[in-house]
Amino acid sequence: MRNSTIKPTPRPGVMDIAAYVPGKDHVEGVAKVHKLSSNETPLGPSPKALEAMKHVAAHLELYPDGQASSLRQAIAGLYGLNTANIICGNGSDELLGLLCHVYLGEGDEAIITEHGFLVYKIQIMANGATPVTVKEKDARVDIDAILAAVTDKTRMVFLANPGNPTGTYLPMSEIRRLQEALPANVILVLDAAYAEYVRRNDYESGMELVGHSNNVVMTRTFSKVYGLAALRVGWLYGPLEIVQALDRVRGPFNLNAMAIAAATEAVRDTGFTEEAVAFNTSWIDRMTEELTALGLKVTPSVTNFILIHFPDEDGRRAPDADRYLSSKGYVLRAVAGYGFPNALRMSIGTEEANLGVIEALKAFMNQKAKTGAL
Ligand SMILES: *Cc1c(COP(=O)(O)O)cnc(C)c1O
Repeated sequence: MRNSTIKPTPRPGVMDIAAYVPGKDHVEGVAKVHKLSSNETPLGPSPKALEAMKHVAAHLELYPDGQASSLRQAIAGLYGLNTANIICGNGSDELLGLLCHVYLGEGDEAIITEHGFLVYKIQIMANGATPVTVKEKDARVDIDAILAAVTDKTRMVFLANPGNPTGTYLPMSEIRRLQEALPANVILVLDAAYAEYVRRNDYESGMELVGHSNNVVMTRTFSKVYGLAALRVGWLYGPLEIVQALDRVRGPFNLNAMAIAAATEAVRDTGFTEEAVAFNTSWIDRMTEELTALGLKVTPSVTNFILIHFPDEDGRRAPDADRYLSSKGYVLRAVAGYGFPNALRMSIGTEEANLGVIEALKAFMNQKAKTGAL
C-alpha cells in the first residue's frame, strides 16, 4: 500500500545543488548557428583519431580495456611520466567527482574560487562537504585569499590554471607558494584543462609539482585542444596513493573503447595538436585586438576563449549583446553564474565565426551608440 508521506529522500545537501547548465547550441528561429559557448575547438579531432574509431566499430561486442593501457602509455610517453601515476576518466569531470567522493564527506570543507568552474561546487556538495568560496583579484586567483580560508576542516583546494571563464593564469611560482603553505593533508587539485594552449614561460601545468609532493594532483582533458569532447576523456596525474584510491572506486570500464582508441591516436598526433594551438594563438591575439578597438574590455587570455566585458549602459550590456549576437547566429556563453553579469565568454571558432562576431559586435556597438540618444 502506498503511504504518500513516506518517500525516498536524497542525502542532505543534494537538493541545494544548482544543476550544471551547458552552453547553448541553438537559437529559436535561427537556422545556422556558430556554437562558441563551450570552448570546443573549431578544428575537430586529429583524422588519425577518427580512423582508430573505425577499427573499434568492427568489434563493439568486446568490453574495452578496463585499464585504458594504450592511452595511459601514450600520455606517459608524451610527457615522460610513469603510467602507474595516471588514471583516466569519462571526461575530467568524472575524475573531479571521484576525488570528492573519495576524499570528502560530511563536515569537510573544500576551497573554490569566486569565478571557479561550477563542476567543483557540484561535486563537493554532492558528497556532503561544504564549499568555501574565496575572492579573486581582477579575475585572477588570489593565493593569499585561499590560504586565509584554510581551516582544520579543509581537505581540498580546487584551482583551474588557467581559469575558466577568466582565461587568466598563475605563474608556477605562485602555485608552489600555495602548495608549500597548505597543510600536508589537503589535496591541491590543479585543473589544467587548457594547459596545451598556454604559451607563457612562467606557466607550468603542475606535473613537476605532482612528482615532488604527496598532496597535489593535476587533471587534463581531451575535450578542448584534442577536439574529443563528445567522447568524454580526461586524465589525472597524481601520487600513487591517490591514484590507487580513485582506481578502487571508479567504474571498471569507465572509458569506452572508442574513447580510448581515439584519444590514444590524438596524443600521438603531436603535429595536429601544434597546428591547433598555433591557429588558436593567432586568433586569441586578433580577437582581443579587434574587440578592444571597438571599445570593449577583454580580459587577457592564455586559453582558447576570451571574456568580453560590456559597457554598463542601457542597451549595451551583456544580455543585450547576447540577444543581438544570438539573433545573428553567434552563440556565446552568458557567465552571470560565474560572477560576471556584464560579460560574455567567447570560444575561438572558425575564421568565419570569428570574423562574424567582430562584424556583429561592431554593428552592436554602433547601433546602440545612435539609439542611445533617444
Ligand atoms: C572544459 C573544462 C574541463 C573539461 O571537462 P571534461 O569533463 O574533461 O570535458 C575541466 N575543467 C575546466 C575548467 C574546463 O573548462
